[in-house]
Amino acid sequence: MVKIYVDNVRFSYRSNPVLKDVTFHVDEGTILGLVGPNGSGKTTLIRCIDRILDPEGSVFLDGTAIRDMRRSEIALNIGYVPQTGAKIAAASVFEVVMMGRTPHMGWRASDEDLAIAEKAMLFLGVENLADLEYNELSGGQQQKVLIARAVAQEPKVLLLDEPTNSLDIRHQLEALSIIHRLSRETGITVIMAVHDLTVAARYADRLMMLRKGQLVAFGTPDELITTERIREVYGVESKIFRDQEAGLIVTPLRAISEATA
Ligand code: ADP
Repeated sequence: MVKIYVDNVRFSYRSNPVLKDVTFHVDEGTILGLVGPNGSGKTTLIRCIDRILDPEGSVFLDGTAIRDMRRSEIALNIGYVPQTGAKIAAASVFEVVMMGRTPHMGWRASDEDLAIAEKAMLFLGVENLADLEYNELSGGQQQKVLIARAVAQEPKVLLLDEPTNSLDIRHQLEALSIIHRLSRETGITVIMAVHDLTVAARYADRLMMLRKGQLVAFGTPDELITTERIREVYGVESKIFRDQEAGLIVTPLRAISEATA
């Protein structure tokens, strides 16, 4: 079943067109990885889906245009994990995770809200940080707390913007395994911008590649990741290996000059 349908989405910052007629859909329970060079429009697309930005064209959630949904309704359905570095007003880790419950809560938190927030912290392994100030954590810890906040929100669709860019390899592996497990166990639909192609291939069911605001390819990791496409889109010569355990591995070799890229 189609969960998110992005129909001819266009967006410009002032007169600078950043997304050009982007159309695709994501089925329920699928993990879609957004890949593409820096500045290709991944963050902008994620913000259009969450309606932080108001693009031309339409985004549908379960067949309803999100333009016609109230903010509170969007928040019940869509969780958004921004890149780290976003400032949050002074709050403890527990308070930040509790913010995820806001769309579900009355004027105060119920025992159920507290239990769900606690479970989300356990799921991400950040329960031992509960009383610490969020702003004083490392980038990697903040990233996990923001994912825990989104898990506590219990959305149907989870948007993640480079969820592992400040995590070391162990924490990267843990966070992505958690997101993968969450999707498989709860049927949540995940759309995540990932810039490492090997990581994207390993954790995403489908990949979508953007270049200068245009969708250039959509498919399974095996279909989408080819040395020709990496050369064309990134201007990089690469080798692709396939390992039984690790899956598809992309090794960039060298940049080619602008003229040939
Ligand atoms: P990506 O996530 O793929 O790196 P972005 O969506 O962040 O790409 O950016 C796409 C383009 O939009 C870039 O050229 C960037 O400079 C521009 N851009 C992003 N945010 C803003 C903004 N707030 N104001 C103006 N231009 C922006």
